[in-house]
Amino acid sequence: MERGNGGGNGNGNGNGHAGGNGFGADGGEFQSPALERLVRSLSRLPGLGRKSATRVALHLLTGGGAAAHAEELTETLAEARRQVRTCSSCGAITEPDPCRICCSERRDRSQLCVVASPVDVLPIEKAGFFRGRYFVLGGLLSPLDGVRAQDLPFDRLRERLQDGPVTELIMALDASVEGETTALYIQRLLSSSELQMSRLATGIPVGGALAYTDEVTLQRAFQFRRSF
Ligand code: ZN
Repeated sequence: MERGNGGGNGNGNGNGHAGGNGFGADGGEFQSPALERLVRSLSRLPGLGRKSATRVALHLLTGGGAAAHAEELTETLAEARRQVRTCSSCGAITEPDPCRICCSERRDRSQLCVVASPVDVLPIEKAGFFRGRYFVLGGLLSPLDGVRAQDLPFDRLRERLQDGPVTELIMALDASVEGETTALYIQRLLSSSELQMSRLATGIPVGGALAYTDEVTLQRAFQFRRSF
């Protein structure tokens, strides 16, 4: 696994070693098929192109403390794959199922906050003001990208609303065309119910300067202005 030649000892994060001695030329393939497979596998990760994947691969094989780091990564990945799951009730990332939020007696069962992604739960929880529970859609409607209503768990959302004491649905979705489309779809889907439904306000951010606010945000801020 360790490569004696080419990498050298203790050379930091492996920056700039792509195309170095013994590993093939810039832009070409490595002489090691195993390394080439590792680079290709890493470059399938979101946000990693071939260049960054090469840097990561060389760091894990030849950088300082490479063997220990590679082993730790292998173990933590295996552990995470064993332990991490999505909550069967709300769709948040969790280890126990149902998650702590769904199980908590201190959460307000009358409020359900709909978010697009499990990641969206984190900033709302960090801020600490919302005491209700969540429903994660796992995406937003986007006909252009091929995400249609049947691809999202709207049936499960309906079921969730049927068997719980939810009286208010808060749609905390992106302020994008997809977010708007999804919010409107949910609103129409549940329009016959007694639910109080709301969307997050859009407007000028706290600390934001009016002069630098984009036109659409400014228009929304006027449209949804509040009286004193
Ligand atoms: Zn949950």
